[in-house]
Order: sequence, then C-alpha cells, then structure tokens
Amino acid sequence: MTAPSDLRPGIAQRLDGEVARIVAPNAGMMTGAGTNTYLVGTRELVVIDPGPDDESHVQAILSAGAGRIRWILCTHTHFDHAPAAARLKVLTGAQTAAMSAPLTDHDFRLDADRNLAPDELLQCDGASFRAVHTPGHASNHVCFLLSSNGMLFTGDHIMQGSTVVIWPPDGNMRAYLESLRRLLELDIRVLAPGHGYLMESPHAEVERLVQHRLRREDKVRQAVLQAGEPATIEILLPRAYDDVPKVLHEMAALSLRAHLEKLVEDGEIHCSHGRYCPR
Ligand SMILES: [Zn+2]
Repeated sequence: MTAPSDLRPGIAQRLDGEVARIVAPNAGMMTGAGTNTYLVGTRELVVIDPGPDDESHVQAILSAGAGRIRWILCTHTHFDHAPAAARLKVLTGAQTAAMSAPLTDHDFRLDADRNLAPDELLQCDGASFRAVHTPGHASNHVCFLLSSNGMLFTGDHIMQGSTVVIWPPDGNMRAYLESLRRLLELDIRVLAPGHGYLMESPHAEVERLVQHRLRREDKVRQAVLQAGEPATIEILLPRAYDDVPKVLHEMAALSLRAHLEKLVEDGEIHCSHGRYCPR
C-alpha cells in the first residue's frame, strides 16, 4: 500500500498555526495509512493519540516536540492509539489523560494521571479542550474539541476514508448513533480524524455518516424479515452486506452484530440462541 505523500509516516506535517500531524508506521486494513498523532500548541505542546509503542514513531514525536510536550491525551485505549503514551510519559514527564479503559483484550491498560469525566474541560497551558464523550466505537471514547479553532480530534469516532467498526459488547451501535448526533450540537469547524485526512464541512459529514448507518440498519432489518425463519449472523451477513466486498465480511460481521443488538434493544427483533427473528 502506498500512502499519499502527506500521510507518510514519521513526517511532522503542519496543518495550521498550532496543529501538526505525524502518522505512525502502522498502515493496514483497520488503520488506513496509519494512526494520526497530533501535536497541538506553540510554546508548550499537547500530544493527542500517541499511537502504537513503536520506537521510530516515538522518536518522531520527540523530535517534533523538542522538549515542549506537557500533556498526552488519548481518545480511547485501543492498541493503535494509546500504548506510546506510557513510553512518552517516561521520556518527557508529561501528564497523561484518558477515560479509564474497559476490560477487553483490545484495550491497552493505560494508567492515566487524569481519568477524564464526560464533557470535562481541559486547560492544557495555552490550549483548551472539551473532552466530548462519544461512546460507540469504544465505551471510553472521547473526542477533543480545541476551542481556539473549532478543530475536533475524532480518534476512531469518525475516520476518513473508511467505515468505523462497531465491535460489541464494548462497541455499541445505538450509543454510536447518539454520539454522532451529539456532534451536530457543537460548534465544530473541521474534523481531525485518527486515520486519514482532515475533513471540512463537519456537520454535513456527520449527517452523511448517520444516514449511512440508518440505511445499513434498514438492510439488516429487511434481511431478518425476509429470512423466513430465525437466522444466524452467518445467514444474514451476505444479505445485509451484499454491496460490501467479501474480504471485508469478517469485519462487517462485527458491525452486523452491533446493528442486530440495537434492533433487539429497540424492541424490533428478538434473539434466541444466536438466531434473530422479527418480534
Ligand atoms: Zn479504535
């Protein structure tokens, strides 16, 4: 996979007067060109999503930070976003902040100096952020809204160039949709995702994502209705995701389960022994 020029790993790319991005060398199906690490500030710096604990990536952050890193914020604790926080803290003495990690095997056990509360305001030297709680992709997911320029650091709540996987039980489709809608109430100028490029027109993008999920939900609903008998995820998958390439079906099965669980929670369908049918 060849990354577009300004998403090459290891290069500090300036995005505006106070924000720069360094891409981690972990390109892949789930991570696109790699995890975006953001450096925010001028005199003293905040690192958002330090990424995987990769030697070359940590060195790239340190050389761009040049002794000015004071805070390390994590949008969530998945392994492509948080593990470098521990090493970077040791090397810089910076304070770490995140919501405490749920007990899953895809979360890094970050012992953060500060456990964020939902919608907490963070004053990090010159930069102030609102930690907007956005459960859905992960129960402890927050987006950070930088008040000076309206840039929202979205982690894996919104990715550019690919669809976010919702992986139950920690991932939850109903919470995800509510968290997307919550963003529509905020004064956001631009989205800075955990993977991919900046996205302008944030509210239009959020609306597009909500509509995309609701269209998928309807396909899932129709697949259950048309199955004619209680159906497993294996039976429903090719029907509800007939427009998605087969190589992505393993991932799609996770989001399918999340859609089905939402429809069960909404009282539309019933689940018994892993089989789904209309109520
Ligand atoms: Zn994630």
